[in-house]
Amino acid sequence: AEDHSDNGVVVIGLGRFGGAVAESLVRLGHDVLAIDQNEELVQSWSDRLTHVVQADTTDSETLRRLGVQEFGRAVVGIGTDLEASVLTVLALAELGVGDIWAKALGPKHGRILERTGAHHVVYPEAEMGERVAHLVTGRMMDFIEFDDGFAIVKTRAPREAVGRTLEECRLRSKYGITVVGVKSPRTDFVHAQPGTTIARDDLLIVCGPTKLVEAFAALT
Ligand code: ADP
Repeated sequence: AEDHSDNGVVVIGLGRFGGAVAESLVRLGHDVLAIDQNEELVQSWSDRLTHVVQADTTDSETLRRLGVQEFGRAVVGIGTDLEASVLTVLALAELGVGDIWAKALGPKHGRILERTGAHHVVYPEAEMGERVAHLVTGRMMDFIEFDDGFAIVKTRAPREAVGRTLEECRLRSKYGITVVGVKSPRTDFVHAQPGTTIARDDLLIVCGPTKLVEAFAALT
């Protein structure tokens, strides 16, 4: 049998979420085994993915026959069908898959998945909703929060920084944030240096405690 333990990922459930996961993994160069019980969906993915099979993944014997235990990682994109989601995670855990990622629709679903053996639970809708809330006012062009209350955002330069170098505006001591990258229109981002001068239309990549980063972006 081929050894997929390093580079291989099993993706189960080829809906919008699982489909995007599978497609991106292929683009990143991973061996992907994609499984869905829906025959039509499997057909429609067959030209974009090398290994797509139709199967009900709630049964660990089925997964074993497909060689899922050879893979070190799995992503479960089943959401609405709670029973199928939980039984699939359980079957993967029984096969000893070392790194199981699963999508949850809400916190209760997520707790069940954790108890059942998922190593990572993701909440795509809740996370995207929170992200959009940060982006909708237009003050942040991008927002990523890490789970320790630390965030990194893309935002415009506050008026007080325009025409000055980062060293001169002392944003870190004033606002508790760090500017890590600066981008002028039609150029690429460059690493922020003490001598980097900020122009009016520049975009900044700023990181720091979430609350402070939010307050900094609100200045613009
Ligand atoms: P949601 O479940 O949140 O609506 P999607 O519809 O985007 O998510 O994707 C769920 C996918 O998982 C569907 O394509 C569905 O066919 C697949 N699926 C559901 N139950 C099973 C199962 N028991 N075995 C394999 N695939 C399944």
